[in-house]
Amino acid sequence: MTFLFNSDAKRGAIFAEAFARELPDIPFAMDPATVDPDAVRYLITWTVPDNLARYRNLEILFSIGAGVDQFRIDAVPPHVQVVRMVEDGIVRMMQEYVTLAVLALHRNLPAYLEQQRGENWRAIAPVQAADRRVGVLGLGVLGTAVLDRLKPFGFPLSGWSRSPHEIDGVRCLSGRNGLDTFLGSTEILICLLPLTDDTRGFLNAQLFARLPAGAALVHVGRGPQLDHEALIEALDNGHLSGAVIDVTNPEPLLAGHPFWTHPKVLLTPHIASVTQPETAARAVIENIKRQRSGLDPIGLVDRRRGY
Ligand code: NAP
Repeated sequence: MTFLFNSDAKRGAIFAEAFARELPDIPFAMDPATVDPDAVRYLITWTVPDNLARYRNLEILFSIGAGVDQFRIDAVPPHVQVVRMVEDGIVRMMQEYVTLAVLALHRNLPAYLEQQRGENWRAIAPVQAADRRVGVLGLGVLGTAVLDRLKPFGFPLSGWSRSPHEIDGVRCLSGRNGLDTFLGSTEILICLLPLTDDTRGFLNAQLFARLPAGAALVHVGRGPQLDHEALIEALDNGHLSGAVIDVTNPEPLLAGHPFWTHPKVLLTPHIASVTQPETAARAVIENIKRQRSGLDPIGLVDRRRGY
């Protein structure tokens, strides 16, 4: 039985050390050419290799990232469990990034950066946190963690998901019926939805129109969820006041794209949150131990839902 690591060697070395310590009975390999394909029970990778079928005894396909939208799940045999990355490092980094983004929008940072470039010393009337409603699309691992981190600032918080949730101090809405109420009362909208057929193109002109005038967007989901032109249009016509964008379509963003220079956009190159090898290795090892004792791995993907 072998664990095959198909990602960068630096992270692999950290995984190898953790496996040697915690699961010494499972050989750890980083070079597919050196392993007997029949021995491979576990594979961790960013994309599904074309020759996946050669691993006939594969039991778990781990994603090295938080999402599995880059996997062609249909190409994975049905008996193989697909598991996304749920680990403390990703969660902490996402909490930091979204806090940074929400506070930047709340305290008018894009406008002040523009004023600085124009040598313009002018105060913008502040809004108190208690009067700034913040809403999160997606109440999964990351959405919930982000809301938790935002609580002490005193923003009225809400969240929206597919199925009903209950979170202390957060107004939770769900399904198509809850979406209008959620959007109508959200002034800083954070997207933390997984990319699926249902969420592709979700952040579009119709959705922006349902937000209150002056609302702002933090997009940390996946690039294809956002209609770029609709966002530019909503920013230019003043309906939206600003956006912090971490993910685009395609990535890298094309040269000359308006996001690069738009005064109301803060852009980062998909760095909101990155898998941290030490904590990720611990999470994967824990999942293998769970599987060996008959439990479902944490982050097991429901193939029908696509996340
Ligand atoms: P998760 O635990 O699977 O949570 C997904 C949430 O989205 C759930 O609350 C789910 O609702 C909701 N959802 C899914 N489809 C929906 C739909 N059609 N309508 C309404 N709600 C829907 O995922 P996570 O770990 O929080 O991660 C979320 C995403 O963040 C990842 O998939 C990835 O794309 C993105 N991400 C980005 C970065 C970055 O650096 N920018 C880093 C990590 C992750 P239910 O609760 O009802 O199932």
